[in-house]
Amino acid sequence: MELDKTGLQSRIFDVYSITGKRSYIFLCNMETNVSRWSKNAVEYFGLPDEYMYDAGSIWEEYIHLDDIETYRKNFDAVISGKTEWQDFEYRARNRFGNYVVCTCQCTILKGENGEPDLFSGTIINHGIIDSIDPVTNLYSDYSFLQELINVIDRNIPISVMEIGINMFSRINLMYGYTNGNQIMRRFGEQIKQLINGNGMVYRLDGAKFAVCMYGYSEEDTKNLYGQIAMIAKEKISLQDFIVPLKISGGAVVLNNYKGNVENIKSSIAYAFNQSKHERNGKLVFYYDFENDKESTDLELMSKIHKSVNKGCQGFYLRYQPIVDVKSEKVIGMEALVRWRHEEHGEVSPNLFIPWMEDDPSFFKLGNWIIRKALTDGMRLKKKIPEFIVNVNISLSQFERAEFRNSVLKILEETGFPPEDLYMELTERCRGLDRDFLREEMNFFRAMGVKIALDDFGTGTASLGLLTELPIDELKIDMSFVRGIEEKPVNQALIHHMVECAKTIGVKTCIEGVEDKPLSKYLDKYKATFYQGYYYSKPVTIDDFEKLLG
Ligand code: C2E
Ligand code: CA
Ligand code: CA
Repeated sequence: MELDKTGLQSRIFDVYSITGKRSYIFLCNMETNVSRWSKNAVEYFGLPDEYMYDAGSIWEEYIHLDDIETYRKNFDAVISGKTEWQDFEYRARNRFGNYVVCTCQCTILKGENGEPDLFSGTIINHGIIDSIDPVTNLYSDYSFLQELINVIDRNIPISVMEIGINMFSRINLMYGYTNGNQIMRRFGEQIKQLINGNGMVYRLDGAKFAVCMYGYSEEDTKNLYGQIAMIAKEKISLQDFIVPLKISGGAVVLNNYKGNVENIKSSIAYAFNQSKHERNGKLVFYYDFENDKESTDLELMSKIHKSVNKGCQGFYLRYQPIVDVKSEKVIGMEALVRWRHEEHGEVSPNLFIPWMEDDPSFFKLGNWIIRKALTDGMRLKKKIPEFIVNVNISLSQFERAEFRNSVLKILEETGFPPEDLYMELTERCRGLDRDFLREEMNFFRAMGVKIALDDFGTGTASLGLLTELPIDELKIDMSFVRGIEEKPVNQALIHHMVECAKTIGVKTCIEGVEDKPLSKYLDKYKATFYQGYYYSKPVTIDDFEKLLG
């Protein structure tokens, strides 16, 4: 089959079709309905041939069922001449049966007399990993970002909502990880059904989703959120019982918005945090893109966000000594992160860690913290070879599949012995599915890394956890030692915790030892380590080195 008589287009085609491995071109003679497609598209998708008759119908078979309608609408718009140029996105199946996200740009080239002659276009393959979330089969946050860029570029009025399932870690804990995933998938499916092709749903990090609705007003968005909240509460089932979910949501309505994507993302995240922590799940809108004074928190959030993306600029670590109770010698340190900005001064981790933990960029910062702490740890090992380093690990790090490899890579790069690294897990980490948690802990312990439970006694965790999870150290929260001399209950609790831990070979560290009398008082409990202002406040690595003498 020939596409044209001269063969010229074929030669041009040859040249263009080899320019990119992940971008393909096609050309269709509209009179004969014969098309030619790039060779690499034929190979990648397993199309029947480079030359195809009625390629439009053939290609449809490769498109994800949920995207066929969008595909047809866009395709018809160009073919019918309604628009000259169309740019759209869909998922297509490759020859291995995996769906990849493709963006297609196509147009009609007219002949000498103005009649439609050639239908031509390019397809860009954005790949599998980043574009589709494997758990819910929804578009991922990568695609969400692309869509935001697209709507700003083209000035499309849109309402964007971020929706999160509250306390999802509890759901994982109660029903297990696999069922948790199923719940998430069902929830995504239900939202999709509800919006019925009038918008888009994306799965973001964790148990969060984004919903984009074209041309929706604030009122429309509120109504939709109400319906989604109802679905969450009443319609998500596991086997044959309903699992009532509670959601939180933040939203913005964009109309002729001229700012950047990062601002939109931070604004929605800000509104979402308000909804989750202060408004009991009521939908919160973010309005104020311009007024800086009214949005210092948001400004701070977006600045910290930017700092992370600029190689963790502005972040630094302070170290606090960990002292061996018997010898009273410093045997290690805990790394504590700080952030400083010209305008805001030093910002406490108590302020930014809680909301950053919900943010995907925390993973980057988390790795930076581990790398820095272990590099500095190596420096101190020259003085004390058995020196240990404790690093705080947040939920968003621990739950990521790639966390294992990141830690191993950092250990290898820094040469820090795994046996001397203690990962401190907080209460939130312990909310993860027990089996998942145990598996991850076992993995790290098999590598030699030690696991500590931080702030023990502050949350819902019981001493029974010690026998259930493979841990090495218990850090007893400082709230137990405040005014301990007058608090017999706290005395009994500390005694009990230390004894229990000792019986099963787990070390203990009492935090918040602020002065000498307190350290002397605590000696009777025979904990393994002390930490607190009495020994030193968190200091720079240089000062820490001096402290060692
Ligand atoms: P944490 O892990 O329980 O850290 C101990 C906190 O207690 C530190 O506060 C430390 O400065 C403070 N502290 C130590 N000794 C005393 C004392 O004797 N008296 C009193 N009143 N306080 C004492 P900081 O550095 O402000 O950190 C607060 C929290 O932020 C940490 O609590 C931890 O949960 C989180 N955090 C800090 N750095 C990191 C980090 O690198 N990653 C993660 N995920 N979280 C971090
Ligand atoms: Ca800690
Ligand atoms: Ca602690």
